Amino acid sequence: MRLSEGHVWVYRSDLISADGIAPGSLVRVADERGKALGTALYSSASQIAIRLVSREDVNDLKALLRRRIRDAIAYREKIVRDTNAYRLVFSEGDFLPGLIADRYNDILSLQVLTQAMDSDVARAAIVSELSEKLKPAAIVERVEPKIRELERLPERASRLIQGEKTSTVLSMNGVKFHYDALEGQKTGAFLDQRENYAAAAGYARGEALDVFCYQGGFALHLAQSGCKVTGVDSSRSALEIADRNAALNGQEIEWIEANAFDLLKDYAAAGRQYDAIVLDPPAFAKSKRNLDAALRGYKELNLRALKMLRPGGVLVTCSCSYHVSEEEFLAVLAEASRDVHRNVRILERRAQAKDHPSLLSVPETAYLKCVMASVS
Ligand code: SAH
Repeated sequence: MRLSEGHVWVYRSDLISADGIAPGSLVRVADERGKALGTALYSSASQIAIRLVSREDVNDLKALLRRRIRDAIAYREKIVRDTNAYRLVFSEGDFLPGLIADRYNDILSLQVLTQAMDSDVARAAIVSELSEKLKPAAIVERVEPKIRELERLPERASRLIQGEKTSTVLSMNGVKFHYDALEGQKTGAFLDQRENYAAAAGYARGEALDVFCYQGGFALHLAQSGCKVTGVDSSRSALEIADRNAALNGQEIEWIEANAFDLLKDYAAAGRQYDAIVLDPPAFAKSKRNLDAALRGYKELNLRALKMLRPGGVLVTCSCSYHVSEEEFLAVLAEASRDVHRNVRILERRAQAKDHPSLLSVPETAYLKCVMASVS
């Protein structure tokens, strides 16, 4: 059974009985022989019916949530440096399944992903603990309508739940970003790449191309370390914010609105060359089913990027698809490098920033791969 192997989920198909359990309840979990396995949060809708919150017996959900949030904050105090924007609570990674909390300077942003975390009792405990400990100017709730639908929760809009402030400027690794929690397109940086931005800036020199740049996470960091940067994304609104971010940092960056696949193909064919290329595409493999197509996509992008790097150039290449393992990702890179006859030396195999903790026994909590390599 998964729980005895250290995992924290039980799928509905593995439940022997859940008769009469109310949606979102705190439940005791036992194995088929009646041996207690711990305390969990129950969902009547999700395929993941049970998410363990403790290996012990717990009766008081409020007290448990408050304690876990304090632990999550204390953990960040130990491991987070050089930023006022980071993930405060990462669901299973902080033993708070179904809750995500991010800090963007003086604004906290919450996401509630399960029936249990959506209950009034849970919400009250979460909001009061976070606001007592961190004293933010405001707390907003971001809603993914799709997730509420899957959990069979009533519709809700993203909104302020405390305070008035909805936008701010955050700073990470000495680089500033606009953050707007509610209006228009969500702004901010990808917090999970925060440590990778700094690492990439440490290697990149010369002319750099940031492909799938969104609001400029890598691009701004590369410009900060002296690179001449071009950022590419298919989203015009993301590039508009990227440009405002560049201005905020006194930088000049060229932004190109294009389909990355087409642009890389054209640039590679035209013989363009760079000293550093970043590839940070959206998750291509949303499920195991489209793994093959995802791997083909990664191969094509990386092959073209490898082709365009000057000798000694740096490739920063990412995959945020949980379904693509690091091993598979590296195999695709190796194949691409053979096809274009380039030697690739791995500088670093990195992952999501430490404020997105991954649990050794819960592989689903580790999703981001970020390979930095020297290409000759
Ligand atoms: N590197 C960014 C995050 C990238 S998120 C950061 O660190 O902040 C993925 C981005 O890919 C999104 O901005 C999305 O608009 C863009 N995108 C998706 N498909 C694309 C395509 N075919 N061509 C170019 N950009 C694309």
